[in-house]
Formats: sequence, C-alpha cells, structure tokens
Amino acid sequence: MPELYIDGRWTAAVDGRTREIRCPADGSLVAIVDEAGPKDAAAAIAAARDAFDRGPWPRTPAAERGRLLQRVADLLERDKSDLARAESLDTGKRLVESEYDLDDIANCFRYFGDLAAGSEAGRVIETGRPGTDSRVVHEPVGVCSLITPWNYPLLQTAWKVAPALAAGNTFVLKPSELTPHTAIALMRLLREAGLPGGAGNLLLGAGPAVGTPLTGDERVDLVSFTGGVATGRAIMAAAAPTVKKIALELGGKNPNIVFADADFETAVDHALMAVFLHSGQVCSAGARLLVQQELHDALVDEIVARARRIPLGGPFDGHARTGPLISAAHREKVEAYVAAGLEEGAVLRCGGKRPDDPALSKGYYYLPTVLDDCVPGMSVVRDESFGPVLTVERFRDEDEALALANDTMYGLAAGVFTQDAGRARRVASGLRAGTVWINDFHPYVPQAEWGGMKQSGIGRELGPAGLAEYQEAKHIWWNTSPQPQRWFE
Ligand code: NAD
Repeated sequence: MPELYIDGRWTAAVDGRTREIRCPADGSLVAIVDEAGPKDAAAAIAAARDAFDRGPWPRTPAAERGRLLQRVADLLERDKSDLARAESLDTGKRLVESEYDLDDIANCFRYFGDLAAGSEAGRVIETGRPGTDSRVVHEPVGVCSLITPWNYPLLQTAWKVAPALAAGNTFVLKPSELTPHTAIALMRLLREAGLPGGAGNLLLGAGPAVGTPLTGDERVDLVSFTGGVATGRAIMAAAAPTVKKIALELGGKNPNIVFADADFETAVDHALMAVFLHSGQVCSAGARLLVQQELHDALVDEIVARARRIPLGGPFDGHARTGPLISAAHREKVEAYVAAGLEEGAVLRCGGKRPDDPALSKGYYYLPTVLDDCVPGMSVVRDESFGPVLTVERFRDEDEALALANDTMYGLAAGVFTQDAGRARRVASGLRAGTVWINDFHPYVPQAEWGGMKQSGIGRELGPAGLAEYQEAKHIWWNTSPQPQRWFE
C-alpha cells in the first residue's frame, strides 16, 4: 500500500521515488517507502487548504473534536505493541522506551481531547457600555505544516497533531525522512477514528524537497517545527515573506548542576540518566554536568565507573540499557565533537570510541563518554552533539554555577541537585530555561508547557499554551441597541 496520505487517499509519489528505511541497530532493511517531492507537497497543501476553507472539520463542534481525539487515544492503546515495535525498528530505540513513549502519546491525545471539549465558550468582556455584547472567541489558525524529527518520532508528532486538531485546524505532516513508520500508522488511526479526508495529510521525504514548500507556500498559515537550530533558522526565513505563524522547538545544551550538599546516590543516578538516555539523542539531555568543586572527584569517579558498565544493544535486547545513534553520519558528527574537545584540552575519562563487541559492529553504536576538565568555549561544551557525551565543568559557588549554566545560546531545560530548599528556589529562578528540574531530570506531563528560551525556540508545546499556538483570538463586538452616532454632523 502506498504511504503518502493526501486528501483522504493513500497514494504513491507522483514521480515514483522511494527511500530505504534501515534500522540503526544493525543496518537491516526495515522497508522501502514512498518519497514525496514538490508536486506531492503542492497536492497535500491544496487538500488541507480546501478542507479548512470548505470541509467539515473546522466547523465540527469542539466537544465532538475532543471525542475524536479520545478515540485516537483508544486506538493508540489498542495498537501499542505494534506501534512501539515500528518506532524501535526505525529509531533503534529500546522497545521498552518506545512503549513508555506510546503511553505518553495516548495521554497527550487525551489531554488535548479534554481541552478541546472545554474551549468553545470564549470570554465575555465587561465593556462598561450598556447595549453591547463583547466576546473573545478562539478560532483555528488554518492550514498547519507540522515538521518533526527522528529522535521521538511519534511523540513529537502527537505534541503537534493533537492540539492542531483540537483547535479545528487542518494539517500536512512531514516526519523525519529517517523514521516515517509511526506517522503512517497514526494517519491510519486518524482515518479509523473518523477524521474527514483532507483534514490530515501526510508527506514523507527529505527536508529541502518537501519541507521547503511546506514552509514557504502562501496557502499555509502556520508552521510548527521541531528539530535543529540551523533548520529552525531556515524555516523562519522561509516563512517570513508570507508572515506565517511559527512555533519552533529547537535544540538544547542543557546544564545539570550538582551542589556538594546533593544526595550523592540520587545525583549520580540522575546524571547518568540525564545524558545517556537514548544515547544522548534527547533535546533535553543533561549533557553539561556542572559540579561543585569539593564534590567533583567523588561524583565524576562514580559516574565514570557506572558509565563504563552501561550495556549497549538493539531494540529487542532485554539486557541493553541504551542503543545506537540514528545514522552513520550522526555518529561521525559525535566523534568529531569528541575529537575537537580532546584537542581543546578536555580529559577523556571513559568511552570516546565505538564499542569493540563484534555483535554491535553493524549498528551505529558509540560508547557512553565522559570528558572531564571542560571549560566554556570548547565546541563540545557549547554545541549540541546529540550523542552520549557528558562534559564536566567545576564551579565554586551558586553565582558561578548560574553564570556557567546560562552561558549558552540555548535555553531548553536544566537540572539542579541540592538539599537546600532556598538554594533550589534561587537557582531555579535564575536559570534561563523553559523547564527546570529540581532533584530530578527529564520528567514532563502534558498539562505543563514545554519549550525553549533564547535560541532553543519560539512558543510552547503542551499545556494550555500548546493549544493556544494553534488558535487565533477574535474579538466580536456587537452593538445590541444600534443608534446613529452623528460623529460627522
Ligand atoms: P533536523 O533539523 O535535521 O530535521 C528536523 C525535520 O526538519 C526533519 O523532518 C527534516 O526532514 C526537516 N527539514 C530539514 N530541512 C528542512 C527545511 N529546509 N525545511 C523544512 N523542513 C526541513 O533535526 P533532526 O536531526 O531530525 O532532530 C534533531 C534535533 O531536534 C536536535 O537538535 C534536537 O535537539 C531537536 N529536538 C528538539 C526538541 C524540543 O522539544 N525542543 C525535541 C526533539 C528534538
């Protein structure tokens, strides 16, 4: 069956192009999928435009839209094991992690389903003038281009599709060309749940060929993008001539600050989880460890000892605790960052190379790596390597910790470990990041906004603000006792 979904029909690419999808754990062929080009993009945009201007979805009562999202959540739960397997084959991620993601994905649809159901009333304004009825209502923005990355393919897609539909928009979705399968499955579930043809469209393919029309076409009203900073900048520029609404969820280089008074076991455990989860391919990875100098030796020795023992393996290896990088090219990028760090004076404490295990030789594995004695300005400290690489910097006191933590163009997330409640509050308030964890790392819930300060992005996903991204506010003023004003008499 063809894999592009345009105007309610499954279709192959107009020019017949396809792409091989390979599992990063061993390079095996997962499937060959259709690869869209500009003509397919134009057809998908036209379908979404027509569905918005004339179709039933934007005119469907909000409570009914909410019910459809709840049905999608039910279907995601029904198909959880197949979807998790598909996600793991595309990404190389451990099956158990894909299963956790699936639970979060269903919850995201439920959350926005509930929010949609309660969002129709609008706000009555007390104008102070008799004989007026003034209301602010929220309407859908229009046609949305939704562009997503490969690290959490269906999760990032859900964070966009669920609120876009809850608000009554139509969309064209373009997942990463590396990880298309769960997006294809989601379109099937949306159709099964009853989403009208044209309201949701799917294009598969590479950024420049398919993403460029999605960000520049005047029929598109909003672009919501999750991915790297460089792509985000290109998308802002492409969206500028037609002044589209944009929401950007970009990268991070997230500090994890550990004070000497932190609970030692907790700090070690979370520092490992912060950076090595999914081999560091997490936008909120705690890749910069900032440790108070008196704790440095003990903390780093223990982190290194445990990092050396992390078992690597493919998605279905029950013993593995983390998996491969997404591609050979990405692993080379990570290797280049480590090499540059060593050249700039960092000290290699563990990892820094591919594993020797011949069983892993076909996958894109890289050992959990700790670089000690790092200083600001090193490229491996400054840039997002998006791999299993922890850099360690030392600080003397709270002021220096905050200065180091904020010395970055990014502002996505940060963690602080301390048992001093006053310090925890002061540091949390001083950090310039969209999410701050105290004595924890990585948790999130769909009720709370997610997004970046500074160059980590524009706008927020999840929470009420995540729905508002997909809405326009409209003020309707009604003079209920009209009289001539005689201003010009
Ligand atoms: P990427 O920027 O290379 O690609 C992301 C998506 O954009 C893909 O679908 C790609 O095909 C598309 N694209 C590429 N060029 C385009 C163009 N010119 N126009 C339109 N679309 C284009 O990112 P990636 O490598 O897939 O993902 C990793 C990045 O995503 C990391 O930087 C990570 O931090 C970030 N990320 C951020 C969050 C967040 O919530 N802030 C979440 C996950 C990932």
